[in-house]
Amino acid sequence: MERKNTWELYDKKQLKELEKLNKEYRNFLDNGKTERECIDVIVNTIEAAGYRELEALVSKGEILKEGDKVYSVCMNKSVAMYKIGKKPLSEGMNILGAHIDSPRLDVKQNPLYEDNGFAYLDTHYYGGVKKYQWVTLPLAIHGVVVKKDGTTVEVNIGEEEDDPVFFISDLLIHLAGEQMEKKAAKVIEGEALDIIVGNKPLLIEKSKEEDKNADGKKEKVKEAVKAGVLDILKETYDFEEEDFLSAELEVVPAGKAREAGFDRSMILAYGQDDRVCAYTSLQAMLDVKKCEKTVCCILVDKEEIGSVGATGMQSRFFENSVAEVMNLLGEYSELNLRRALSRSNMLSSDVSAGFDPSYGSYFEKKNAAYLGGGMVFNKFTGARGKSGSNDANAEYIAHIRNIFEKKKINFQTAELGKVDVGGGGTIAYILALYGMNVIDSGVAVLNMHAPWEATSKADVYETYRGYKAFLEEA
Ligand code: MN
Ligand code: MN
Repeated sequence: MERKNTWELYDKKQLKELEKLNKEYRNFLDNGKTERECIDVIVNTIEAAGYRELEALVSKGEILKEGDKVYSVCMNKSVAMYKIGKKPLSEGMNILGAHIDSPRLDVKQNPLYEDNGFAYLDTHYYGGVKKYQWVTLPLAIHGVVVKKDGTTVEVNIGEEEDDPVFFISDLLIHLAGEQMEKKAAKVIEGEALDIIVGNKPLLIEKSKEEDKNADGKKEKVKEAVKAGVLDILKETYDFEEEDFLSAELEVVPAGKAREAGFDRSMILAYGQDDRVCAYTSLQAMLDVKKCEKTVCCILVDKEEIGSVGATGMQSRFFENSVAEVMNLLGEYSELNLRRALSRSNMLSSDVSAGFDPSYGSYFEKKNAAYLGGGMVFNKFTGARGKSGSNDANAEYIAHIRNIFEKKKINFQTAELGKVDVGGGGTIAYILALYGMNVIDSGVAVLNMHAPWEATSKADVYETYRGYKAFLEEA
């Protein structure tokens, strides 16, 4: 089968739109480096577009009608948004879903220690990472510290030009003979991913009362470097060591999303898995015209660790919000809810492994996703004989194909690497439990799960177009 390169298909007007969308996409990445930050950005954006919070409408007992736009946030980490269509909800929705969590290093609950003059924060990595990729990079800390009284300190250090950054050290090459012989999985082990956060001891004035021979000199306190860091945390952020107990601090690569290549055809950025699909889904949702069916977009947390927890896709959060929406439409019954879900169509989005010529032997060329090849569909994902996959129905794929061809959306189909080489999962199988039509789709990425991942600007734009076509036509 012949594949088209998406860049060849655009006219001047589209290229202009493509650049605009990708610039906004980079802003989204820069402002949303954690799931919480993504939710902040998303809620601000959709509220400006007329979306109203579902819970507020529920407590006011408001009625919903065609054209209304509502959203619901779960624990500041997941969101579901709806634009009410003409048809009853029980006839099904068109749903876009993606995840907004990304691999990173999470700061432990008792993290701060001093060792030979360095202060460290101990971390536990989140999601699948090649640990050796995370050393000797400038790192930033993003997150929240929630104090006992319920007040939240928002932390974002390392992104501004005059902010300090943090780093993980690596053994110098001169002494690395033995280290270089180790397997890549062992070169840097999980417990070695502690970030260096200080090297200067805290000095305090000798007090005149305590020391008769006070000479104005300063003296070191015990574990003075750690004490120095704590002093700064107290001074600048108003929290104490104990407050790490109720903190969620995420260590991510410091720096902004960049255009890549002489031709500026790509985006190199942290966290594109899966904020590239989240962003394009969100934009499609905002730009969607009048719809027959209710359209919906869910952007969730915890995909990278199995969609677990209250904010992951396995949570009842989404189902509950559908029930609330139906209730405000005067349509709710247990049976109508089940019908709404089972009659829905969904694009479950996630990044796909882009074919990498440097590692070509791990892919099967005819069934690989290519950067610039357009939006990707994966009939199935999984590993070892499709295990763990949602295997989309041929009938549903035909329906989607028809829409995409009619709307001139460039797409490609792919598997994640060669058979038996590896694999991966997404949220698709969870929504499929309702008996709805679901297919995995998304954007091809190079160096997936690395601190800096690459995508094609053409794919970002084409995927946005594809999502919009799906919402309007499926
Ligand atoms: Mn992933
Ligand atoms: Mn993903």
